[in-house]
Amino acid sequence: MSRSVFITGGNRGIGLATARVFAAQGDKVTVTYRSGEPPEGLFAVRCDVTDPAAVRRAADEARSQFGPIQVLVSNAGITRDQLLVGMEDDDFRSVIETNLMSGVTVAKEVVPDMLKARWGRVVFMTSMSALAGAPGQTNYAASKAGLIGFGRSLAREVGKRNVTVNMVSPGLIETDMVKDVTDARREHVLGQTSLFRAGRPDEVAHVVRFLASEEASYVTAGIIPVTGGLGVGH
Ligand code: NDP
Repeated sequence: MSRSVFITGGNRGIGLATARVFAAQGDKVTVTYRSGEPPEGLFAVRCDVTDPAAVRRAADEARSQFGPIQVLVSNAGITRDQLLVGMEDDDFRSVIETNLMSGVTVAKEVVPDMLKARWGRVVFMTSMSALAGAPGQTNYAASKAGLIGFGRSLAREVGKRNVTVNMVSPGLIETDMVKDVTDARREHVLGQTSLFRAGRPDEVAHVVRFLASEEASYVTAGIIPVTGGLGVGH
């Protein structure tokens, strides 16, 4: 079955890998991108997810291209790492706006399509930092933990209409987002994994694909770790 899939932040990193995996199985994929060039071979719409009007326009473009949205992957995110005592308020706010509020905005825009169709899949990209905490990431962990509470509550609201809502919680994945992580920090984090390595974007993408599949029909409100074993017990 080919579905209409909408992925925010789909021009690079985990979002792009996820888009490629869905497209490879025949889904009709719309990715949003904010800066840079749209990715080759995918239907792409420019959209800053912190702007509700832009999100609406992007969703409308996806609908006119591929019909009502059936799968949402809310993936766009940023970090502004800093110890709390030195953190500017704006760095806290912008991370909450981008990571948490954009999830709310996109879900509000797209979930009505799913309720109407009585079928849908929503996946929020959260983080192991939300569960385990991480120094320098009070803003980021708060935003991602917020997404978990939001997603779990949404799951309870929409389950009767056969719409599932799940959270994917990656550990350290090789993308631009982690290129500034110091060697010492990287060694510390990877030393706590069972696989002693960072993950690849495609290793997250395949988990998202499963959660969006028909086979995952009884999985909702889950937090699925893709961490190589980091944070076991959370
Ligand atoms: P990247 O930095 O590689 O990609 C981030 C994506 O989000 C880009 O497409 C970026 O667009 C987009 N984005 C950021 N802000 C906005 C905005 N305001 N409007 C629209 N798009 C925006 O990061 P990753 O691929 O690593 O991260 C993807 C998700 O996975 C994020 O939510 C991140 O928090 C999460 N994650 C990543 C981990 C990792 O180790 N990499 C670990 C745990 C979670 P643009 O190109 O324009 O900047």
